[in-house]
Amino acid sequence: MKTADLFKKKTVFSFEVFPPKKTSSIDTIYSTVEQLKELKPDFISVTYGAGGSENNKKTLDIASNIKNHYGIESVAHLTCIYLTKQDVLKMLGEFNAAGIKNIMALRGDINPDYTPKDDFKYASDLVSFIKENGDFGVLGGCYPEGHFESASIVDDIHNLKKKVDAGVSHLVTQLFFDNAHFYRFRERAAIAGINVPIEAGIMPVTNKKQIERMVTLCKVELPHKFLTMMNRYENSPEAMRDAGIAYAIDQIVDLITQGVDGIHLYTMNNPYIAHRIHEAVRSLIEYKG
Ligand code: FAD
Repeated sequence: MKTADLFKKKTVFSFEVFPPKKTSSIDTIYSTVEQLKELKPDFISVTYGAGGSENNKKTLDIASNIKNHYGIESVAHLTCIYLTKQDVLKMLGEFNAAGIKNIMALRGDINPDYTPKDDFKYASDLVSFIKENGDFGVLGGCYPEGHFESASIVDDIHNLKKKVDAGVSHLVTQLFFDNAHFYRFRERAAIAGINVPIEAGIMPVTNKKQIERMVTLCKVELPHKFLTMMNRYENSPEAMRDAGIAYAIDQIVDLITQGVDGIHLYTMNNPYIAHRIHEAVRSLIEYKG
């Protein structure tokens, strides 16, 4: 099933996982997926590490197992900036053979250590190429506070519209900690004529290292309320974890109440946290009133 069709029925609830690091066994991810399956997610997406064939093989294998062994719809992420059209064609063939129906089409972050290939400059180039060369549901990323390379939010929304026009049928946001950014973004997207479902990406932050990494990588605003909470509990891993979970639940309750299309939980491969959050919001997700 293509993920865009899921939104016709309910508030979508989905997860993101990432392939285990080189030092961990691949089996650790399957124990995570096993525990996530208990929560009956609408789909699980698998990230793509921007660094060579070993990474894409892991994404392919995990997305394939989620779909074929665990019976959960899966989404394989794919970043294009360092790939040629030939590389992508080969991967589309492999996705197709594995029964994977959905691809999150991304440009990927620019790494000064590598030279980009010339075939794909933006994610929208990859989106058009996928649509021309297969029958996949194509998802795209979006940024409620604007992508950090964009000169303005308006520019970013114009570029997002091009990506949707190229064939994206479902958007997932980068994480954010102030829902006001999401609501403003949703309104701007609607004004620009972007009318595909927009799932809110929520990351439960449960340790200080995660916050530092996020500020560097994603350049999102950390609201005063969030920072105060994190500073207060930084010396207690348990209190920090519980505060992070409570903050994410608070965001999700507000988003569902305001009619969000779906919640995509960045699980960080931690099923315990996903369980705690799911338990708190299950009846809201299921509510059809
Ligand atoms: P694009 O949509 O191409 O946008 C990149 C920049 O170019 C933006 O500033 C945009 O405004 C601008 N732009 C776009 N089109 C045009 C145009 N036609 N003309 C001028 N400017 C243009 N990274 C990974 O490495 N692996 C992952 O698995 C992964 N998963 C992600 C999942 C989600 C939901 C999100 C939101 C991000 C994910 N990322 C991942 C990070 C992503 O690769 C980076 O944020 C990257 O910097 C941008 O990718 P994009 O696909 O959004 O790029």
